[in-house]
Amino acid sequence: MQQAIERNVSYQPVIGLEVHVELATQSKMFCGCRNVFGAPPNTLVCPVCLGMPGTLPVINRRAVEFLCKTGMALGCDVAPFSKFDRKNYFYPDMPKNYQISQYDMPLTTGGSVRLASGKRIALNRIHLEEDTGKNIHAGTSMAASEYTLIDYNRAGVPLMEIVSEPHIATPEEAEQYLSALKSVLSYIGVSDVKMHEGSLRCDANISVRPAGTSTLGVKAEVKNMNSFRSVVRALRFEIERQTEALTSGERIIQETRNWDDARGVTYSTRSKEQAHDYRYFPDPDLVPLTLDDATLAQWREELPELPLDKRDRFIAEYGVSEYEAGILTEDRSAAEFFEAVARACGDGKQAANWMLGDVRRSLEKHSLTLATSPVRPAQLAELIRIVAAGQISGKAAKEVCDAVVAEGTDPQAVVAQRGLSQISDTEAVGAMVDDALAANPESVASYKGGKAKALEFLVGQVMKSSRGKANIDIVRELLRERLG
Ligand SMILES: [Zn+2]
Repeated sequence: MQQAIERNVSYQPVIGLEVHVELATQSKMFCGCRNVFGAPPNTLVCPVCLGMPGTLPVINRRAVEFLCKTGMALGCDVAPFSKFDRKNYFYPDMPKNYQISQYDMPLTTGGSVRLASGKRIALNRIHLEEDTGKNIHAGTSMAASEYTLIDYNRAGVPLMEIVSEPHIATPEEAEQYLSALKSVLSYIGVSDVKMHEGSLRCDANISVRPAGTSTLGVKAEVKNMNSFRSVVRALRFEIERQTEALTSGERIIQETRNWDDARGVTYSTRSKEQAHDYRYFPDPDLVPLTLDDATLAQWREELPELPLDKRDRFIAEYGVSEYEAGILTEDRSAAEFFEAVARACGDGKQAANWMLGDVRRSLEKHSLTLATSPVRPAQLAELIRIVAAGQISGKAAKEVCDAVVAEGTDPQAVVAQRGLSQISDTEAVGAMVDDALAANPESVASYKGGKAKALEFLVGQVMKSSRGKANIDIVRELLRERLG
C-alpha cells in the first residue's frame, strides 16, 4: 500500500537556464583582434588573446555598453562599480590557463525576461567574460578522435552570461524564454544570436521535486544543446530520467550531462566541480570597472522599443490581433517595415493582412526576405490604397503585389503595364450590364421566377464581356438594381 502511494507521486521540474551570448563587437574583449565568425583557424589572434607573458588586457568599452544595455532592457540593476576576476582552470581551449570573468561583482543583478504569455522569469545576474577557443576533435578513426586541433579565433571574444533563477516550469517555457531573450537581444543589436554558429548557447540546470513541495531537488547541468528544439528535447528527457530514478527509489547525483541529439539522450560527463575549484581572484591586470551616471543615462536613452512593448502598442494603435502583432514584431526591421506601411496607407489592419498574407507568400515564392526584396513600404501602402479605391480587383492586386515584391516596381506602373485597371465607373459598367440583360432574356426570366443562381450567370456574362475588368461588386449591385 505504501509503495503504491509513492508510485503515484507526481514530480514537477525546476529549470534554470544559463545563456551565453557572444557580443557583436568589432574587436575582442581585451585586445584589438577582429571579432568575426568563420575566419580560417588561428588567423584572428595576437599575444594578448594567446596569453603570452608580459601582455596586458584592455577592457572593450563597447562590450560593457552592450551588456549594460541588455541589463537595462531586462530591468536589471546595473552596478556602477564591478570588477573582473580570473577563473583558473587547465584546459587547452584557454591559452592563459585562466578565463577572465566576473565572480562576486557582476555588472548586473536582478531583472527578468518577459515571456509572450505575460509571465516573467526572474534573472539572477548578467556578467561579462571572454569566450574560449574551440577544440576540434579529428582523425581518421571512425570510433574516436585520434587527435585534437585547437582554433583560438574565438578565444577572447566578448561573452555575456545571462543566468536565470530556477523559475522555469516546463521545457516549453524554456523555449519561450529563449525566444523572448533572443528577440530582445536582436532588437538591441548586441548580438547576432545565431545558435547554429554558437553566438547564442544555452546550458540548463534541471531538477525535479514532488508536486506541491518547495525544497529543490538535486540538479543536473545539461550542456551541448544546439537549437531551441534540442533544449526542449533534452529537458523532456531529463524530466523523465530523473522522475523514473526517484520513483524507483534511486538517488539523483549532481553532475554535468551532455545532450546527444542523434540518440536523443543525455549522458554523464563528470560530477560537478565546486565553485572554489576555480580559485577565483581579482584580475591584477585590470582596474575595477566604474560607470558614471551620464554614460548610463545615455545608454538608457539609446535603447529601442522592445519587442513585447511594440507588440502591445501595435494591438492598441493598429487594431491588429495579438497573434498578428506577435508575428509582426518577431523581427525588428520587419516590425518597422509594417509600421511604415500602416502609417503610409492609414489602415493597420489591411497592412497586417498584406504583410502576413500575400507579401509573405511572394517573398517565399521568390526566395526573398524583406531585407533582400526591393519592395519599399510606400509601394505596399500605394497598393493597399488603390485596392481600397476600387481601381483594381482583389485578384489583380495579388498579381501586382507579387511584381512589387519581386521587382520593386511601383504598383501603378504594374497596373498600367499589364492593363489591370478595373472599370468602376457606374455608367460604363451600367452599359455592360444592360447589354448582358438584353442578350440573356431566359436568365432574366428565371431570376425573376425565383432562381437566385441566374444572377451569378449574368454577373459572369458581364465579367466576360469586360474581359475581367469590370468591378464585380458594382456589376452585382447594378444587376440587382435593374432586376428589381
Ligand atoms: Zn588578440
